[in-house]
Amino acid sequence: MAVELAFRPYQRRFAQPLRTAHGPWIWREGLIIRLCRLGRIGYGEVAPISWFGSESLADALVWAAQGEGSPECVPDGLPATQFGLACALANLDANDAGLEPSIADICGLVPAGEAAETALKRVAQGHRTLKWKIGVFSTDEETQWLDQLVKALPQGIRLRLDANGGLSLSQAKRWLAMCDSINAGQLVTIEHLEQPLPPDQVAAMAALGSRYQTAIALDESVATLAQLEYCWARGWRGVFVVKPAIAGLPQRLQAFYRQHRPRLVFSSAFETCVGRRAALDLAYRCSQRPIPALGFGTQGWFDDDWDTLTPAELWDRL
Ligand code: MG
Repeated sequence: MAVELAFRPYQRRFAQPLRTAHGPWIWREGLIIRLCRLGRIGYGEVAPISWFGSESLADALVWAAQGEGSPECVPDGLPATQFGLACALANLDANDAGLEPSIADICGLVPAGEAAETALKRVAQGHRTLKWKIGVFSTDEETQWLDQLVKALPQGIRLRLDANGGLSLSQAKRWLAMCDSINAGQLVTIEHLEQPLPPDQVAAMAALGSRYQTAIALDESVATLAQLEYCWARGWRGVFVVKPAIAGLPQRLQAFYRQHRPRLVFSSAFETCVGRRAALDLAYRCSQRPIPALGFGTQGWFDDDWDTLTPAELWDRL
């Protein structure tokens, strides 16, 4: 049955430029796809992050301009396009509003630096799990801030430390030893240390994983499903962070999850309401229970009101 494909590019400005390993991120750019079949409409979003391992927006635009509506025909080199088309197709058949998680199920973000004040603010907002960025200041300073943070937080709060691949092996060992001793105290739980070493050092991270009790999560190492499958095949049994919007075909992730039951933690790629809905839907399908906090605390990060729009309203704005 013929499916008609249309797309509209978008640009959103971050309220505060995001600090990344590749410099400030000022504009989030992507495409909203609209499929039409027999009068039914389905929306999908292509939200690539090329510096994180997906295709570029230019690559995605070339593909979209061909008007090919079947996600299986999209090559693996275009994982964000695969995701966007697959979600638009699924949305054609089941046009529901989707589930928005409660704030307690969302991981609150705490930027790098002295963390206690922001962390307590997040807890007051209702977050039960927090992610703090590390590996930006000296390890001496940061471990001292962690010590203060753990003492300040109420019991039962869970922490994720995200190094974005920025630690050396000896720094990673120091962090893990500290995490193990905090976890032995049972006041605050360090859920995992995320991507301590650079993306290509998976074997070294696996060795660390077998030496320390605190879980290690791969993020930058597994931007796409193909990379995730590769690490699994090589024996990685720690946590995987999945950004559905750039990972590839949702049905492929679902099949992988059903077969192997890996420990997945889901995260936003700063997509609009269109991609968010689809990414959260996949997170609910592919998470062990209780669901690890969802890394989707990204609403209100842009200098616009798009978070309040429905997919159809967003489409009309573009
Ligand atoms: Mg991360």
